[in-house]
Amino acid sequence: MADEELTDVQLISHFMRRSPVPIAQAIEALGIDYRVVPMADGSSGKIEKVNDRYVITVNANESPVRQRFTAAHELAHYLMHRDLLVHGHMDRLFDPDPMTNPPAPFKRSHEYQANQTAANILMPKSRVETYHAQGMTTRQIAERFEVSPAAMKIRLETLGLKPNG
Ligand SMILES: [Zn+2]
Repeated sequence: MADEELTDVQLISHFMRRSPVPIAQAIEALGIDYRVVPMADGSSGKIEKVNDRYVITVNANESPVRQRFTAAHELAHYLMHRDLLVHGHMDRLFDPDPMTNPPAPFKRSHEYQANQTAANILMPKSRVETYHAQGMTTRQIAERFEVSPAAMKIRLETLGLKPNG
């Protein structure tokens, strides 16, 4: 089990060397099915176990940057929480009312962990620091990684970096 997890992390690290991080490719490299299909309004994505296979689905109706963040969030659940998964887990990550995101079967702490890990994967620390040191603005760095400026703003704060503008 430990070896398997190490391999997963090593695989993802390989994809994390590119900007933007090819998140769909990283997911598929782990043997997870990745689907982008229209889902109900407010739904951002889900992870489920179908027979012995994991499937990550993101809502095609959401913007590409949101789709990427959702994909990374579900990937994080796979890495850290898949043993807790019974059937599936649906996320409403961008719903303005946080109480409408039903985390079952996970807890809020799992959601927090998944968001942290998603940020770590999509916005690798060393390159964010490099681009920031080069004077790039929050928006420019966000574009480089194909994430939302809001997500990059939080990432810079987490890394203790003052935005260049
Ligand atoms: Zn979640």
